Amino acid sequence: MIKVVKFGGSSLASAEQFRKVKAIITADPDRRFVVPSAPGKRNSSDTKVTDMLYHCYALAEDGKDFSEDLANIRARYQEIIDGLGLTVSLDAQFETVREQFAALAGREYAASRGEYLNGVLLAAYLGFEFLDPAECIIFHEDGTYDAALTQKKLSAALAGRSNAVIPGFYGAQEDGKVRTFSRGGSDITGSIAARAVQANLYENWTDVSGVLVADPRIVNNPKVIETITYRELRELSYMGFSVLHEDAIFPVRTAGIPINIRNTNAPEDEGTYIVENTSRRPAYTITGIAGKKGFTAINIEKDMMNTEIGFGRKALQAFEDNGISFEHMPSGIDTLSVLVHQSEFEAREQAVLAEIHKLCNPDSIDLATDLALIAVVGRGMKSSHGTAARIFGALYSADVNIRMIDQGSSELNIIIGVAGVDFEKAINAIYKAFVQ
Ligand code: ASP
Repeated sequence: MIKVVKFGGSSLASAEQFRKVKAIITADPDRRFVVPSAPGKRNSSDTKVTDMLYHCYALAEDGKDFSEDLANIRARYQEIIDGLGLTVSLDAQFETVREQFAALAGREYAASRGEYLNGVLLAAYLGFEFLDPAECIIFHEDGTYDAALTQKKLSAALAGRSNAVIPGFYGAQEDGKVRTFSRGGSDITGSIAARAVQANLYENWTDVSGVLVADPRIVNNPKVIETITYRELRELSYMGFSVLHEDAIFPVRTAGIPINIRNTNAPEDEGTYIVENTSRRPAYTITGIAGKKGFTAINIEKDMMNTEIGFGRKALQAFEDNGISFEHMPSGIDTLSVLVHQSEFEAREQAVLAEIHKLCNPDSIDLATDLALIAVVGRGMKSSHGTAARIFGALYSADVNIRMIDQGSSELNIIIGVAGVDFEKAINAIYKAFVQ
């Protein structure tokens, strides 16, 4: 078995966290390839090293003195070195960083040093080999990464190695210029590495015990999802779940490698498996509940709308012409509602309404603002009856008025629109109906 293990910033924020990481890696000899993030927050008021680097580099760009900021970054690493009793020195590396900042080597180069330096330390601490992704994770000039060339270079670089630490978040163009993924991009590095070594499992270690059924800021102590499919996760992520960088799914998904989300601070917890497909039934019929506030519904009414060919196209044309994307479009025989993000719509609303009038000649247009959308997602809904009844029953009992219902043809989700003020109450009611 080969496992690629990625550790997020909070898992590597201090010497104490480094010790936990080492214990996890040495507990399983299959955990051979390790992808670290830069040191993250040690507590809620702390600053991530990546943010410190961006700030420090901005000073360099403005021609200001950045030595104090760089010294503070250095202190973060020194604290880890001292805490672990390592004999490593980062003198040479920090001298290069200082020179490169002064020479304005680029914002992405600057940010990448967080992972690079943490990788140097982690490799020394574990006694693993260090592999610089600048040599084998290749970016195009437009900032996207070259999947084919990277796969070739990275798999060649890792072949024959029994272990390696590969810093996350960055790579380089073929001409050597260092480039980074977008924020949170170490997840992508882990996924690319898992594919390159044809790993059996990609473990993504963070500070929660997996993907939760609902947002813990809304539901008290929600349960962990044992197994979720990529499609379910995509539905939930779209509605605001932040688990993994979106682009981290693709490389492993195409290679059929499952992802296991784990907690560095509770390694005994099994975490969540993210898989292409599974015959395991979700524990509670539904897999997860997510939602977002801040939607507006534009309700268009016209007698005999159902007989007018092209009505829907013309109505949507008004949104397209104003650069507004729509989220949902439930319809009746003489009504059509278009749901949009309120913040996007507000600036263009009069132009959109005027154009709908011009193109569609409706009887009336009515706006409903401050709506919230809730997605109840679950692969298990398709094969069990009564799910919708349970959702609506729960909302009825909680005294929540349902403003809109939309069920995708995939039967993977049911979307419910409620007033923004009912949002938290509605999510709690649905959670209780299924999970408790
Ligand atoms: N350190 C980078 C960030 O803060 C990348 C990562 O942690 O994945 O976004």
